[in-house]
Amino acid sequence: MNELYQPIERLPGVGEKRAQKYHKMGIHTPYELLFHFPRNYIDFTNPVRIADAENGEPVPVRCTVRQKLTPSFIRRGFSIFRVVVTDGTGDLTLVFYNTPYTYQAMKPGEEYYVYGKISGGFTRREMASPVVQRAEGAMLLQPVYPQTAGLTSVMMRTNIQRALQYLDAAPAETMPAELMRTYSLMPLVEALHTVHRPEKQETLAAARHRLAFEELLQFQLGTLMLRHRSSSQSASAMSPETDLSDFFSALPFPLTGAQQRAITSICRDLCCGRPMNRLLQGDVGSGKTVVAAAAAAFAAKNGCQTVLMAPTEILAQQHLQTMTGFLEALGLKPVLLTGSTRAKEKRQIKAAIADGTAKVVIGTHAVIQKDTDFHSLGLVITDEQHRFGVAQRAALAEKGGCPHKLVMSATPIPRTLALIIYGDLDITVLDEMPKGRMPVKTFAVTGGYRERAFGFIRERLDAGEQAYLVCSMIEESDQMENVQAAETYAETLKNGAFSDYRVGLLHGRLKPQEKEAVMTAMKAHEIDLLVCTTVVEVGVDVPNATVILIENADRFGLAQLHQLRGRVGRGQVQSYCILLTDSRREDARERLKIMSRTTNGFAIAEEDLRLRGPGDFFGHAQHGMPPLMQAAMGSNMPLVSQTQQAAKMLLESDPELRAPEVQPLRTAVLQLFAKNGENGLN
Ligand code: ADP
Ligand code: MG
Repeated sequence: MNELYQPIERLPGVGEKRAQKYHKMGIHTPYELLFHFPRNYIDFTNPVRIADAENGEPVPVRCTVRQKLTPSFIRRGFSIFRVVVTDGTGDLTLVFYNTPYTYQAMKPGEEYYVYGKISGGFTRREMASPVVQRAEGAMLLQPVYPQTAGLTSVMMRTNIQRALQYLDAAPAETMPAELMRTYSLMPLVEALHTVHRPEKQETLAAARHRLAFEELLQFQLGTLMLRHRSSSQSASAMSPETDLSDFFSALPFPLTGAQQRAITSICRDLCCGRPMNRLLQGDVGSGKTVVAAAAAAFAAKNGCQTVLMAPTEILAQQHLQTMTGFLEALGLKPVLLTGSTRAKEKRQIKAAIADGTAKVVIGTHAVIQKDTDFHSLGLVITDEQHRFGVAQRAALAEKGGCPHKLVMSATPIPRTLALIIYGDLDITVLDEMPKGRMPVKTFAVTGGYRERAFGFIRERLDAGEQAYLVCSMIEESDQMENVQAAETYAETLKNGAFSDYRVGLLHGRLKPQEKEAVMTAMKAHEIDLLVCTTVVEVGVDVPNATVILIENADRFGLAQLHQLRGRVGRGQVQSYCILLTDSRREDARERLKIMSRTTNGFAIAEEDLRLRGPGDFFGHAQHGMPPLMQAAMGSNMPLVSQTQQAAKMLLESDPELRAPEVQPLRTAVLQLFAKNGENGLN
């Protein structure tokens, strides 16, 4: 058997423990390891002269060891190792803390490349904890891999070099020859060697291009195949004669033009006999729910059931209220099915869903996916809030035959990105806000203004309004840390700046019922100030909340800040968003200023794409988009159109990729789409 596809444990140098770490990263074979690409490279190609090197920024230096100083053992567990090096223009002292290995390996008189930040003045210049390699046989572009608990770049580099040897023993090519020619792509083996051990920048760029091309192509093939499959399936064709006038006349407001257009497109889709696959994209507050309600009413009038799935219990609850408001007049009574529904009630509701009396079902994704039998499911609406990915969409398609699907997303995405990530969907954008909305006034200020900001919030609270205070340390990835931070912060505020007010706390570790209780209290104005982590981001509606203050705002993507800001400005009074940052970085502040200049989510998204690349729009795990591709797309939109063209060309003659020369590609597509859902394409 080819060693490339053996379990990663078999790779020399990878033990049981390290293998487990690789497994956590989704790497199970040496072959998969080869597709774990460097995050960036340390560039030693243009070493700086020590005399010219500036303090503060990391620099590469080529130097000779002059002297190894005697190690200082300061106290138990703290020792310092120093090596003095020179390059003829000046001396530099390399300093290693607690790590004797490099120090021990370095030999007087030998030449090395070192890389690190220089500090110190005329008497002695230092480089602390440098990256060091021998000049002889040095890697001039040294790969730095994304860090994962306990796996250093050095370990990965060693393991990957070994896997590359296996690759040479059994060279492979995944791209059909014709594509290789048409798009002048570097062969796979060469590209893999080059990204992991580049000689110069030019070939590295060609290698990354080839690999990004392939990833992007796979992704596009997958979404196009999904689209092709569903367009060749049939779904219940509803009647174009269906009359929604009673629905419209019962609404408490006139619809915006964008809402009307969206409803028209959706109803047209529902009548055409093929499953609808539509994305309804609209900024926070653009009024997507009423569009969903119109679709559900349309389906119900055609004897079809609709299910609306929300990512969280709070949102499901909220949707139940609003949808009930919109649909009651038609005699439709939506039911709610979530994790906290009591067993007895759940049985009754499930029975009503199974016999078709429940026409509109609202619930959380998790619960509905689990053994719910529908009588005549016609329409699946997911309120995505950017939490679900491609694989989940694929999974839903399997549910209950082939229903129509409407995906709602409040994340404005640049159109170019949307076309890829939602390549399997038709896109409708709600690009018009309901009348009378006042833009949220936004200010980006430093921590020095915190007390003044608190004073301002107290004024708003005294006026009978409510406020949010967001204090996620980092984006939800380490929930525990966030929870502690939020708890401590809430305590401090309760005993200090806001001791005269009712302070609530909301974070990801609360049980669903607890969260709901907090949000219900917030809605009922039993809480004045809600301290929260980013969990509040997901679509919760409290029109009386008029201020949101976000701590560490520089740590968030603009798109996410925009989402958070959408929590206020939902009522009739002027609302405010205060972005606090202690970052001194010019670019961080510049970014935040964009927030004060515009409230258009799509404009913000374009800026975010330009400034930070597409990674922010979707966590990797959520949409199955590989990181290299993300990186490549940020700056390289021609690549997107090239791969789109290539994917269409391949599928035109061979919609299921049956031809022998595209088998490796097909396998890769299937794997990509099976990764985070149970049944993507197969
Ligand atoms: P989204 O889900 O797109 O963020 P919602 O559907 O929650 O937005 O709508 C936000 C608020 O605007 C709700 O209170 C809703 O009732 C209201 N709304 C929706 N459409 C209109 C409209 N055309 N005119 C006035 N208010 C509207
Ligand atoms: Mg919503």
